[in-house]
Amino acid sequence: MSIPVSKNEEVIVDIVGLTHEGEGVGRVEGFTLFVQGALPGERVRAKVLKVKKQYGYAKQLELLKSSSDRVEAPCPIYKQCGGCQLQHMDYAAQLRWKRQHVVDNLERIGKIRVTSGAASDGVGQEEKGEAPGVIVHPTMGMDEPWRYRNKAQVPMGMGMGSSSGPAAAETIGAAGAAQLIGGFYARSSHRIIDMDACLIQHERNDEVVARIKAIGRELGITAYDEETGRGLLRHVMTRVGFVTGETMIVLITNGQRIPQVESWVKRIRENVAGVTSIVQNVNTRKTNVIFGDVTRVLWGSDVIYDELDGIRFAISARSFYQVNPLQTVALYRKAVEYAGLTGTENVIDAYCGIGTISLFLARQAGRVYGVEIVPEAIEDARRNAALNGIANAEFEAGAAEVVIPRWREEGIVPDVIVVDPPRKGCDAELLETILAMKPERVVYVSCNPSTLARDLRVLEDGGYRAVEMQPVDMFPHTVHVETVCLLIYKGFE
Ligand code: SAH
Repeated sequence: MSIPVSKNEEVIVDIVGLTHEGEGVGRVEGFTLFVQGALPGERVRAKVLKVKKQYGYAKQLELLKSSSDRVEAPCPIYKQCGGCQLQHMDYAAQLRWKRQHVVDNLERIGKIRVTSGAASDGVGQEEKGEAPGVIVHPTMGMDEPWRYRNKAQVPMGMGMGSSSGPAAAETIGAAGAAQLIGGFYARSSHRIIDMDACLIQHERNDEVVARIKAIGRELGITAYDEETGRGLLRHVMTRVGFVTGETMIVLITNGQRIPQVESWVKRIRENVAGVTSIVQNVNTRKTNVIFGDVTRVLWGSDVIYDELDGIRFAISARSFYQVNPLQTVALYRKAVEYAGLTGTENVIDAYCGIGTISLFLARQAGRVYGVEIVPEAIEDARRNAALNGIANAEFEAGAAEVVIPRWREEGIVPDVIVVDPPRKGCDAELLETILAMKPERVVYVSCNPSTLARDLRVLEDGGYRAVEMQPVDMFPHTVHVETVCLLIYKGFE
């Protein structure tokens, strides 16, 4: 087929869908053009930026027909910042799109039949003799989908600053007046843009970053420069316990020594409420990885505490802890519900992190076995079990695909296996082990619908049936969607 568009040409594009990155999928005479910021159902005038064999990219110039799902993005820096992708879409429409995104992946990648309709009863769609498809419930959204994040990781740079808004900062060397700024990388670049407020962050995090910048400016602190490898402050990480209000601040520095560190600490303590922990992490490597290996406490505790559904967690600077605590509780409760516990079951929690899901499960199970690859997280998990007086959970550090087969040899027989893998999904060997152990239920918590669909295919081929699924909106205004899925072994149905 000949390509109907060429670079720099202006075209009229009809938008028919959204990619998993939130770009509009447009069509011009059957040719696919991706148009950032355009929504399904819209028609735009756009300029072609790039043409490849199968598809191209275009920049929207004018909106000719608007979707009823379109809203004004409330954030003034939405267009420059890559952090959110769906602020221009009505929240209810975001939730509908997320469910559909899960369904599309299940059908296309997993070849899994979905019981159509968003109804929670899931009846009425079954054809005679055919197994019912998986029920995908409507995405569970937030009543107030703003200011939901407990953690910010803010890159620091030198520039002109912006006391009043989004003005892009010049990078170092531009003028003598360059000062400490911090915010975000402009979309698909490493240029730092100064930011005063992020509408999806807890206000405390905004306050911490603003304060650190102000103090840094007063003290003449320099920011790290990726190009030259010079300068001190690389990132500021801040995390607040939504229930406890405790706040940890981590200064990630290019080098051990922080000039005037006492006065820095003192000013932070005087100016930011709730700070219970100020930590330094040293990273001198030329890398995009935020954290280095050395972490030391400058003041206060090495952890902050937070609570999820009445369970307390100690969280250290490097711990993985879900960023949206309200939705995390909803997600974990659903995972526990799907586990169908009566108080006697053996449950394995694979990819357990600091033992969060494990401890939710332990309250209703006989015994819980958690496994996680990061040894420090396992230490946290044990500490968290003890902190809550939970004695029926044990933890082991190692790869799930290595440890669980060994548990099998040792005679551990799980009734339920919960998995919560990173984006790349479950290791093939782990899936094999699950099929060999045949627990009655598998509860799959996923942050990536495509690897979820791939893994569900393996489990279905091995005798499981995906019964129902709950997408949970952990990251409003972004394209991310978290899903929890219940699978039951066919013999038990
Ligand atoms: N269930 C936890 C953590 C989920 S994030 C929570 O809800 O907080 C996924 C976790 O999997 C991370 O902690 C990561 O360190 C861990 N991980 C990654 N690969 C792993 C593997 N092969 N085996 C065990 N854990 C792994």
